[in-house]
Amino acid sequence: MAKTVYYGTTMEEAQRIAEGDYATLVDGMIYTQAHLRLMPAIGDAERCRVKDEDQPAVVHLQIKYKSLSPGNKAKIRSARLMTDKEILHLTGYTFNRAGFGDLPSGIVVRLCHRDYMIECDGREYRCSLRRKLTPVLRSGSDKPLTVGDRVKLTLVDDHTGVIETVMGRTTAYGRTRVRTDGPRQTRRPSTVLANLSGLIIVNAALQPPLKPAMIDKFLVIAAFNGICPIVCLNKIDLVEDQQPLLDLIGIYRDIGYDTVMTSAETGEGIDELRAWMQHKTSGLVGTSGVGKSSLLNAIQTDLRIATKGVNERKGGRHTTSATQLYPLEGGGYVADTPGIRTLQFMNIEPQVLRQYFPEMQQLKEPCHTQPCYHTGEPGCAVKKAVEDGIMAPSRYESYLRFCGGR
Ligand code: GDP
Ligand code: ZN
Repeated sequence: MAKTVYYGTTMEEAQRIAEGDYATLVDGMIYTQAHLRLMPAIGDAERCRVKDEDQPAVVHLQIKYKSLSPGNKAKIRSARLMTDKEILHLTGYTFNRAGFGDLPSGIVVRLCHRDYMIECDGREYRCSLRRKLTPVLRSGSDKPLTVGDRVKLTLVDDHTGVIETVMGRTTAYGRTRVRTDGPRQTRRPSTVLANLSGLIIVNAALQPPLKPAMIDKFLVIAAFNGICPIVCLNKIDLVEDQQPLLDLIGIYRDIGYDTVMTSAETGEGIDELRAWMQHKTSGLVGTSGVGKSSLLNAIQTDLRIATKGVNERKGGRHTTSATQLYPLEGGGYVADTPGIRTLQFMNIEPQVLRQYFPEMQQLKEPCHTQPCYHTGEPGCAVKKAVEDGIMAPSRYESYLRFCGGR
């Protein structure tokens, strides 16, 4: 039986498939329903970008198979790259930004019933989606577009416009939603924010107590999603002896992460954090009460994000439940969304988890057992690094905990 499959990949891999070197693809490949429609293939193409310069591409395959089940090998009859024009024609989607070069660019800052609030050149426009885009975009996810998506639009008047095309996402920060459809449970990814580029991981020096495991968790999530993280210790005005804080932040600085110590109260470190956020689309994560809203207000007074002060608690707490991007004066955006904070691990396998602990990658000595998951194998270099004081015990503890899926 033959079947037409649209398979998302990178340009380099696509070229190899098209030229006949598709051994890697055939071996162990299961053609799921997910590959049989174009939008998931586009999503795959974007996700499999490893380096910035990787070009996403969609390959059109004619495959031959006896039965489509796991373990079965499929034979590829023909393969060719789909052109941008073809993809655009079929989906209204383009990888090629030049195709819409003349149209103004915008960014989705808020969802608005069935429309989208788009920021374009410092103004907001309420925009609808060109109708031909709706069905194709919807097939791959919950909502056709999400906050942070970059679009090209036609402006209708001073307040409204039409979205003509959606740009490829660089990152898709989301969570896995478990749905129960009758007796079956399905997991589907739902994107909370598109194109997030900075993640500010906030902890309080005091009240609520420091949570190093939470820092480690979000560092992994950031790396997994290709987002640049910064470890932020707030409320440093509350402690006299700063040495324990410096020790903690030193752990992360030594591994190579960006760090900042702040006080939303005295303004210390705020300039530094503001500079870090420039030209990024950042989100803040951290448990309730660490000072996320206060930090945002200190960074820019007009961010309109309500701190949950005493008065407000009395009169019924004001909480922002909708995801929204706020433009920053020096360029860039900041997102405030409850969804971003509750994110859990997204199916990160123990085999790949160690990639997200840079200090493990930096060790010179290899482990005796290969492959080693550093969970107690004999002759483990990571275990030794912890014993020798090279790797922080708290980091290793987090690693073991995440390996256990927690
Ligand atoms: P969120 O839940 O993370 O958004 O935290 P909030 O911004 O609502 O702050 C919680 C409480 O901590 C508020 O009462 C703030 O006034 C207070 N707070 C926030 N940042 C600081 C800080 O740097 N120093 C001090 N002393 N208090 C702070
Ligand atoms: Zn090991």
